[in-house]
Amino acid sequence: MQQDDLFGKTVYAEGKPQKKSPPPKPSGIYPDEPWAGTASLADLEGEIHTCLKCPLGQTRTNFVFGVGNPKADVMFIGEAPGADEDAQGEPFVGRAGQLLNKILTAINLKREEVYICNILKCRPPSNRDPETGEMETCFPYLFKQIEIIRPKFIICLGRIAGQWLLQTNENLTALRGKIHDFNGYRLIVTYHPAALLRNPNWKHPAWEDMKMFKKAYDELKA
Ligand code: URA
Repeated sequence: MQQDDLFGKTVYAEGKPQKKSPPPKPSGIYPDEPWAGTASLADLEGEIHTCLKCPLGQTRTNFVFGVGNPKADVMFIGEAPGADEDAQGEPFVGRAGQLLNKILTAINLKREEVYICNILKCRPPSNRDPETGEMETCFPYLFKQIEIIRPKFIICLGRIAGQWLLQTNENLTALRGKIHDFNGYRLIVTYHPAALLRNPNWKHPAWEDMKMFKKAYDELKA
């Protein structure tokens, strides 16, 4: 079977029960920030796009805030901008982004109707993994985005986003295949599209994850 065909099927697997995780305390995350009371994504972006709280602010070309529907039911969260995203100021616009677009099409979602962003808003040099301190510094921005959007589902693209939001060291195999609870939000962890490009054998389990998500999503919307 062509790998890309994997994202063209319409049969959905059983969803699994949600699992509780300790929620972060919003009030402890950004108590004194000037943007704490911000009610719109545009206002939040306006407040934070010049951020220099970590060294990545010095080396970025663009602050990559996020893109999509401010009222999205589904929020996709990746790791950090790569070179293309840094250059264009939009998440998931490179090769991984093109695969994400195909995945969205396969589950009957348009890029414009979901929201797409990253754990980090600025590109780590040479695309290295985000450092814990960088994620800690940047996390309040993401948490505020989630609070403004209030999505019905969060889909973490890759181990790093999943481990960070769930505050766990469990590997991707353990994290995928179930619906977790993140502070009251349904959260699913699946493969990062860049990983699928590197290892096409993972497209099949990634498709299983998307079928699980789509079944739960369709049931919620019914
Ligand atoms: N990888 C990510 O995690 N995010 C992007 O925006 C692009 C590639």
